[in-house]
Amino acid sequence: MSTIPASILPVKDGAVGIVSFVYDDGFMDTCLHLGQLFERYGLLGNIAMIGKHFADVAAVDDAGQYTFTHTPEQRQKIEDFRRFFEDYPRFQIISHSMTHRAFGFDEENLRRETVAPQQLFRQIFPGQDVLSYAYPGFADDGTREAQFRAAVPFLAQAYIAVRGVTTGLPQPLAQLDPAYPINTCSTRQVTELYTSADKRTKDAIMASASVGGWTVITSHNITDELSEIPFYVTKAYYQTLIDFVYPFIASGRLWCAYFTDAVQYLTERDNASLTAVYDEASQRISLTLTHTLDREKFFYPLTVRVTLPPEWHADSVRLQAADRRGQRMDREVTVESGEGGRSVTVNLTPNQGAATLTPIGA
Ligand SMILES: [Zn+2]
Repeated sequence: MSTIPASILPVKDGAVGIVSFVYDDGFMDTCLHLGQLFERYGLLGNIAMIGKHFADVAAVDDAGQYTFTHTPEQRQKIEDFRRFFEDYPRFQIISHSMTHRAFGFDEENLRRETVAPQQLFRQIFPGQDVLSYAYPGFADDGTREAQFRAAVPFLAQAYIAVRGVTTGLPQPLAQLDPAYPINTCSTRQVTELYTSADKRTKDAIMASASVGGWTVITSHNITDELSEIPFYVTKAYYQTLIDFVYPFIASGRLWCAYFTDAVQYLTERDNASLTAVYDEASQRISLTLTHTLDREKFFYPLTVRVTLPPEWHADSVRLQAADRRGQRMDREVTVESGEGGRSVTVNLTPNQGAATLTPIGA
Protein backbone atom coordinates (compact mmCIF):
# COMPACT_ATOMS: atom_id res chain seq x y z
CA MET A 1 0.00 0.00 0.00
CA SER A 2 1.28 3.45 -0.86
CA THR A 3 -0.08 6.96 -1.03
CA ILE A 4 -0.21 8.43 -4.51
CA PRO A 5 -0.51 12.08 -5.64
CA ALA A 6 -4.08 13.39 -5.85
CA SER A 7 -5.53 16.88 -5.59
CA ILE A 8 -8.83 18.74 -5.54
CA LEU A 9 -9.00 21.17 -8.48
CA PRO A 10 -9.71 24.84 -7.64
CA VAL A 11 -12.72 24.96 -9.99
CA LYS A 12 -15.03 22.26 -11.29
CA ASP A 13 -13.76 20.23 -14.26
CA GLY A 14 -10.47 22.11 -14.25
CA ALA A 15 -11.93 25.47 -15.33
CA VAL A 16 -9.99 28.63 -14.48
CA GLY A 17 -12.89 30.62 -13.03
CA ILE A 18 -16.63 30.72 -12.52
CA VAL A 19 -19.50 32.79 -13.92
CA SER A 20 -23.07 32.87 -12.55
CA PHE A 21 -26.10 34.61 -14.01
CA VAL A 22 -28.76 35.90 -11.63
CA TYR A 23 -32.06 37.39 -12.79
CA ASP A 24 -33.72 39.38 -10.01
CA ASP A 25 -37.45 39.45 -9.28
CA GLY A 26 -38.76 36.65 -11.51
CA PHE A 27 -41.23 38.07 -14.01
CA MET A 28 -42.40 35.48 -16.53
CA ASP A 29 -41.66 37.44 -19.72
CA THR A 30 -37.99 37.70 -18.86
CA CYS A 31 -37.85 34.12 -17.55
CA LEU A 32 -39.18 32.82 -20.87
CA HIS A 33 -36.69 34.89 -22.80
CA LEU A 34 -33.82 33.61 -20.65
CA GLY A 35 -35.24 30.09 -20.85
CA GLN A 36 -34.95 30.03 -24.63
CA LEU A 37 -31.62 31.82 -24.68
CA PHE A 38 -29.98 29.60 -22.04
CA GLU A 39 -31.39 26.49 -23.71
CA ARG A 40 -29.77 27.53 -26.98
CA TYR A 41 -26.36 28.05 -25.36
CA GLY A 42 -26.58 25.30 -22.75
CA LEU A 43 -26.14 27.74 -19.85
CA LEU A 44 -27.40 27.56 -16.27
CA GLY A 45 -29.19 30.47 -14.59
CA ASN A 46 -30.57 31.63 -11.27
CA ILE A 47 -33.87 33.38 -10.67
CA ALA A 48 -34.21 35.45 -7.50
CA MET A 49 -37.91 35.00 -6.69
CA ILE A 50 -40.19 36.91 -4.33
CA GLY A 51 -42.48 34.89 -2.04
CA LYS A 52 -45.54 37.14 -2.23
CA HIS A 53 -45.89 36.51 -5.97
CA PHE A 54 -46.93 32.96 -5.01
CA ALA A 55 -48.37 33.08 -1.47
CA ASP A 56 -49.03 35.03 1.70
CA VAL A 57 -47.95 33.86 5.13
CA ALA A 58 -50.95 32.60 7.11
CA ALA A 59 -49.29 31.50 10.33
CA VAL A 60 -46.12 30.19 11.92
CA ASP A 61 -45.97 27.45 14.54
CA ASP A 62 -43.67 27.07 17.55
CA ALA A 63 -41.22 25.01 15.51
CA GLY A 64 -40.87 27.87 13.02
CA GLN A 65 -42.86 26.14 10.25
CA TYR A 66 -44.90 28.52 8.14
CA THR A 67 -48.25 27.90 6.53
CA PHE A 68 -49.31 29.81 3.45
CA THR A 69 -52.47 30.91 1.66
CA HIS A 70 -52.77 31.46 -2.08
CA THR A 71 -55.08 33.76 -4.01
CA PRO A 72 -56.32 32.48 -7.40
CA GLU A 73 -53.76 34.75 -9.06
CA GLN A 74 -50.94 33.30 -6.91
CA ARG A 75 -52.10 29.75 -7.74
CA GLN A 76 -51.90 30.60 -11.42
CA LYS A 77 -48.34 31.88 -10.94
CA ILE A 78 -47.37 28.61 -9.25
CA GLU A 79 -48.78 26.64 -12.20
CA ASP A 80 -47.03 28.91 -14.71
CA PHE A 81 -43.67 28.50 -12.99
CA ARG A 82 -44.06 24.73 -12.53
CA ARG A 83 -44.47 24.55 -16.28
CA PHE A 84 -41.51 26.90 -16.77
CA PHE A 85 -39.16 24.76 -14.64
CA GLU A 86 -40.36 21.67 -16.50
CA ASP A 87 -39.83 23.23 -19.91
CA TYR A 88 -36.50 24.84 -18.96
CA PRO A 89 -34.76 22.64 -16.39
CA ARG A 90 -31.65 24.83 -16.23
CA PHE A 91 -32.69 27.37 -13.61
CA GLN A 92 -32.36 27.41 -9.85
CA ILE A 93 -34.37 29.53 -7.43
CA ILE A 94 -32.65 32.01 -5.16
CA SER A 95 -34.85 33.24 -2.31
CA HIS A 96 -35.41 37.00 -2.70
CA SER A 97 -37.49 37.73 0.45
CA MET A 98 -41.19 37.33 1.12
CA THR A 99 -42.41 40.83 0.23
CA HIS A 100 -39.36 42.76 -1.09
CA ARG A 101 -40.22 45.45 1.47
CA ALA A 102 -38.09 46.84 4.30
CA PHE A 103 -37.20 44.21 6.95
CA GLY A 104 -37.34 46.56 9.92
CA PHE A 105 -35.88 45.18 13.14
CA ASP A 106 -38.76 43.15 14.51
CA GLU A 107 -37.59 39.55 14.94
CA GLU A 108 -40.73 37.92 13.62
CA ASN A 109 -40.63 40.10 10.53
CA LEU A 110 -36.94 39.36 9.97
CA ARG A 111 -37.66 35.62 10.16
CA ARG A 112 -40.62 35.93 7.80
CA GLU A 113 -38.65 37.84 5.17
CA THR A 114 -35.76 35.37 5.24
CA VAL A 115 -36.76 31.87 6.37
CA ALA A 116 -40.40 31.74 5.13
CA PRO A 117 -39.68 32.04 1.38
CA GLN A 118 -37.26 29.09 1.53
CA GLN A 119 -39.99 26.93 3.07
CA LEU A 120 -42.51 28.22 0.51
CA PHE A 121 -40.36 27.58 -2.56
CA ARG A 122 -39.34 24.10 -1.38
CA GLN A 123 -43.02 23.30 -0.88
CA ILE A 124 -44.37 24.58 -4.20
CA PHE A 125 -41.34 23.72 -6.36
CA PRO A 126 -40.10 20.31 -5.11
CA GLY A 127 -36.54 19.58 -6.15
CA GLN A 128 -35.38 23.16 -5.62
CA ASP A 129 -32.95 23.28 -2.68
CA VAL A 130 -33.16 27.08 -2.29
CA LEU A 131 -29.92 27.35 -0.32
CA SER A 132 -29.05 30.92 -1.35
CA TYR A 133 -30.65 34.28 -0.67
CA ALA A 134 -30.48 37.62 -2.47
CA TYR A 135 -31.13 40.75 -0.41
CA PRO A 136 -34.05 42.75 -1.82
CA GLY A 137 -33.21 46.32 -2.89
CA PHE A 138 -35.91 48.12 -0.93
CA ALA A 139 -35.61 51.89 -0.46
CA ASP A 140 -32.77 52.81 1.88
CA ASP A 141 -33.81 55.09 4.76
CA GLY A 142 -30.24 55.04 6.02
CA THR A 143 -30.71 51.83 8.04
CA ARG A 144 -30.89 49.30 5.20
CA GLU A 145 -27.41 47.88 5.84
CA ALA A 146 -28.26 47.59 9.55
CA GLN A 147 -31.49 45.77 8.68
CA PHE A 148 -29.51 43.36 6.49
CA ARG A 149 -27.09 42.73 9.35
CA ALA A 150 -29.96 42.12 11.76
CA ALA A 151 -31.22 39.42 9.39
CA VAL A 152 -27.93 37.49 9.26
CA PRO A 153 -28.65 35.11 12.20
CA PHE A 154 -31.91 34.07 10.50
CA LEU A 155 -30.27 33.79 7.09
CA ALA A 156 -27.48 31.67 8.55
CA GLN A 157 -29.99 29.07 9.78
CA ALA A 158 -31.41 28.48 6.34
CA TYR A 159 -28.89 29.47 3.67
CA ILE A 160 -25.25 29.05 2.74
CA ALA A 161 -24.78 32.40 1.00
CA VAL A 162 -26.37 35.77 0.43
CA ARG A 163 -25.96 38.07 -2.54
CA GLY A 164 -25.66 41.70 -1.51
CA VAL A 165 -27.57 44.56 -3.05
CA THR A 166 -25.62 47.80 -3.45
CA THR A 167 -22.23 46.41 -4.39
CA GLY A 168 -23.78 43.17 -5.53
CA LEU A 169 -21.08 41.35 -3.59
CA PRO A 170 -22.02 37.91 -2.38
CA GLN A 171 -21.89 37.94 1.38
CA PRO A 172 -21.22 34.34 2.17
CA LEU A 173 -22.47 32.94 5.40
CA ALA A 174 -20.22 29.98 4.86
CA GLN A 175 -16.47 29.67 5.18
CA LEU A 176 -15.41 31.03 1.80
CA ASP A 177 -11.78 32.00 1.50
CA PRO A 178 -11.87 35.82 1.80
CA ALA A 179 -8.92 36.05 -0.57
CA TYR A 180 -10.82 34.38 -3.40
CA PRO A 181 -11.69 37.05 -5.96
CA ILE A 182 -15.43 37.49 -6.28
CA ASN A 183 -16.49 40.08 -8.85
CA THR A 184 -20.06 41.05 -9.14
CA CYS A 185 -21.70 43.14 -11.76
CA SER A 186 -25.14 44.51 -12.30
CA THR A 187 -26.26 45.16 -15.83
CA ARG A 188 -27.43 48.73 -16.47
CA GLN A 189 -28.74 50.40 -19.52
CA VAL A 190 -25.93 51.77 -21.56
CA THR A 191 -25.90 53.42 -24.89
CA GLU A 192 -22.40 52.34 -25.70
CA LEU A 193 -21.34 48.84 -24.84
CA TYR A 194 -18.44 48.19 -22.52
CA THR A 195 -18.14 51.65 -21.07
CA SER A 196 -18.32 52.52 -17.38
CA ALA A 197 -20.45 49.90 -15.57
CA ASP A 198 -20.20 47.63 -18.55
CA LYS A 199 -16.46 47.77 -18.67
CA ARG A 200 -16.43 46.40 -15.12
CA THR A 201 -18.50 43.42 -16.25
CA LYS A 202 -16.22 42.75 -19.18
CA ASP A 203 -13.06 43.13 -17.09
CA ALA A 204 -14.44 40.85 -14.39
CA ILE A 205 -15.27 38.12 -16.88
CA MET A 206 -11.83 38.33 -18.48
CA ALA A 207 -10.10 38.25 -15.08
CA SER A 208 -12.11 35.22 -13.97
CA ALA A 209 -11.27 33.42 -17.20
CA SER A 210 -7.57 34.24 -17.13
CA VAL A 211 -6.42 34.29 -13.49
CA GLY A 212 -9.46 32.82 -11.69
CA GLY A 213 -12.28 34.12 -9.56
CA TRP A 214 -16.05 34.13 -9.62
CA THR A 215 -18.09 36.65 -11.58
CA VAL A 216 -21.74 37.02 -10.61
CA ILE A 217 -23.80 38.91 -13.19
CA THR A 218 -27.10 40.27 -11.90
CA SER A 219 -29.79 41.56 -14.24
CA HIS A 220 -33.36 42.76 -13.92
CA ASN A 221 -36.05 42.66 -16.60
CA ILE A 222 -34.99 42.18 -20.20
CA THR A 223 -37.21 44.07 -22.64
CA ASP A 224 -37.67 44.51 -26.41
CA GLU A 225 -37.30 48.28 -26.33
CA LEU A 226 -35.17 50.41 -24.06
CA SER A 227 -37.17 50.93 -20.86
CA GLU A 228 -37.44 54.08 -18.74
CA ILE A 229 -36.31 52.00 -15.78
CA PRO A 230 -32.53 52.38 -15.73
CA PHE A 231 -31.69 48.88 -14.54
CA TYR A 232 -33.79 47.10 -17.19
CA VAL A 233 -31.83 46.08 -20.26
CA THR A 234 -32.79 45.24 -23.82
CA LYS A 235 -32.70 41.80 -25.42
CA ALA A 236 -30.06 43.08 -27.83
CA TYR A 237 -27.89 44.20 -24.92
CA TYR A 238 -28.22 40.88 -23.13
CA GLN A 239 -27.40 38.99 -26.33
CA THR A 240 -24.17 41.00 -26.62
CA LEU A 241 -23.31 40.05 -23.06
CA ILE A 242 -23.91 36.35 -23.74
CA ASP A 243 -21.91 36.56 -26.97
CA PHE A 244 -19.02 37.94 -24.95
CA VAL A 245 -19.14 35.37 -22.12
CA TYR A 246 -20.04 32.27 -24.07
CA PRO A 247 -16.65 31.53 -25.73
CA PHE A 248 -15.01 31.39 -22.27
CA ILE A 249 -17.60 28.84 -21.17
CA ALA A 250 -17.45 26.83 -24.39
CA SER A 251 -13.66 26.56 -24.18
CA GLY A 252 -13.86 25.29 -20.60
CA ARG A 253 -12.14 28.32 -19.05
CA LEU A 254 -15.26 29.41 -17.16
CA TRP A 255 -17.62 27.15 -15.28
CA CYS A 256 -21.18 28.46 -15.73
CA ALA A 257 -22.59 27.59 -12.31
CA TYR A 258 -25.72 27.90 -10.26
CA PHE A 259 -25.01 30.41 -7.49
CA THR A 260 -25.47 27.76 -4.78
CA ASP A 261 -23.29 25.21 -6.60
CA ALA A 262 -20.45 27.73 -6.82
CA VAL A 263 -20.61 28.48 -3.09
CA GLN A 264 -20.77 24.78 -2.28
CA TYR A 265 -17.79 23.98 -4.51
CA LEU A 266 -15.62 26.82 -3.20
CA THR A 267 -16.48 26.09 0.43
CA GLU A 268 -16.05 22.33 0.20
CA ARG A 269 -12.84 22.70 -1.81
CA ASP A 270 -11.31 24.67 1.07
CA ASN A 271 -12.58 22.33 3.77
CA ALA A 272 -12.24 18.85 2.31
CA SER A 273 -9.44 16.35 2.71
CA LEU A 274 -8.51 13.81 0.09
CA THR A 275 -6.42 10.66 0.31
CA ALA A 276 -5.47 8.30 -2.48
CA VAL A 277 -4.06 4.92 -1.49
CA TYR A 278 -2.75 2.43 -4.03
CA ASP A 279 -2.91 -1.26 -3.25
CA GLU A 280 -0.36 -2.82 -5.59
CA ALA A 281 -1.52 -6.38 -4.88
CA SER A 282 -5.12 -5.81 -5.96
CA GLN A 283 -4.27 -3.09 -8.52
CA ARG A 284 -6.75 -0.74 -6.90
CA ILE A 285 -6.65 2.91 -5.91
CA SER A 286 -8.96 3.95 -3.04
CA LEU A 287 -10.00 7.61 -2.95
CA THR A 288 -11.45 9.08 0.20
CA LEU A 289 -12.90 12.58 0.11
CA THR A 290 -14.40 13.97 3.31
CA HIS A 291 -15.41 17.24 4.96
CA THR A 292 -16.94 18.12 8.30
CA LEU A 293 -19.33 20.80 6.98
CA ASP A 294 -23.11 20.51 7.36
CA ARG A 295 -24.04 17.67 4.97
CA GLU A 296 -27.54 19.02 4.44
CA LYS A 297 -26.02 22.13 2.91
CA PHE A 298 -22.74 20.95 1.35
CA PHE A 299 -23.03 17.98 -0.99
CA TYR A 300 -21.63 19.17 -4.32
CA PRO A 301 -19.16 16.83 -6.11
CA LEU A 302 -15.56 18.06 -6.24
CA THR A 303 -13.27 17.54 -9.20
CA VAL A 304 -10.28 15.42 -8.23
CA ARG A 305 -7.17 14.67 -10.26
CA VAL A 306 -5.25 11.46 -9.51
CA THR A 307 -1.83 10.55 -10.89
CA LEU A 308 -1.83 6.94 -11.97
CA PRO A 309 0.86 4.38 -11.14
CA PRO A 310 3.40 4.13 -14.00
CA GLU A 311 2.57 0.47 -14.51
CA TRP A 312 -1.03 1.31 -15.49
CA HIS A 313 -0.80 1.49 -19.27
CA ALA A 314 -4.45 1.25 -20.34
CA ASP A 315 -6.14 4.24 -21.99
CA SER A 316 -8.99 4.21 -19.51
CA VAL A 317 -9.74 3.20 -15.94
CA ARG A 318 -12.85 2.07 -14.17
CA LEU A 319 -14.36 4.35 -11.51
CA GLN A 320 -16.75 3.06 -8.86
CA ALA A 321 -18.23 5.66 -6.54
CA ALA A 322 -21.45 6.74 -4.85
CA ASP A 323 -23.44 9.89 -5.56
CA ARG A 324 -25.18 12.21 -3.06
CA ARG A 325 -28.00 9.74 -2.50
CA GLY A 326 -25.66 6.79 -2.02
CA GLN A 327 -26.45 5.48 -5.52
CA ARG A 328 -23.43 3.50 -6.80
CA MET A 329 -22.06 4.43 -10.18
CA ASP A 330 -19.64 2.49 -12.27
CA ARG A 331 -18.05 4.02 -15.34
CA GLU A 332 -15.04 4.24 -17.58
CA VAL A 333 -12.80 7.31 -17.39
CA THR A 334 -10.30 8.29 -20.07
CA VAL A 335 -6.66 8.67 -19.01
CA GLU A 336 -5.01 12.05 -19.69
CA SER A 337 -1.30 12.55 -20.30
CA GLY A 338 0.40 15.62 -18.85
CA GLU A 339 3.67 16.88 -17.41
CA GLY A 340 3.15 15.09 -14.09
CA GLY A 341 2.53 11.78 -15.82
CA ARG A 342 -0.68 10.00 -16.63
CA SER A 343 -3.75 10.98 -14.64
CA VAL A 344 -7.53 10.89 -14.48
CA THR A 345 -9.95 13.65 -13.52
CA VAL A 346 -13.15 12.58 -11.77
CA ASN A 347 -16.01 14.25 -9.88
CA LEU A 348 -16.59 12.79 -6.41
CA THR A 349 -19.27 13.58 -3.85
CA PRO A 350 -17.70 14.07 -0.41
CA ASN A 351 -18.54 11.77 2.52
CA GLN A 352 -19.77 8.87 0.37
CA GLY A 353 -17.19 6.29 1.42
CA ALA A 354 -14.24 5.19 -0.67
CA ALA A 355 -14.32 5.47 -4.44
CA THR A 356 -12.11 3.07 -6.35
CA LEU A 357 -10.12 3.19 -9.55
CA THR A 358 -9.00 0.01 -11.29
CA PRO A 359 -7.28 -0.41 -14.66
CA ILE A 360 -9.57 -1.57 -17.45
CA GLY A 361 -8.73 -5.11 -18.51
CA ALA A 362 -6.70 -5.80 -15.37
ZN1 LIG B 1 -35.35 42.66 -6.29
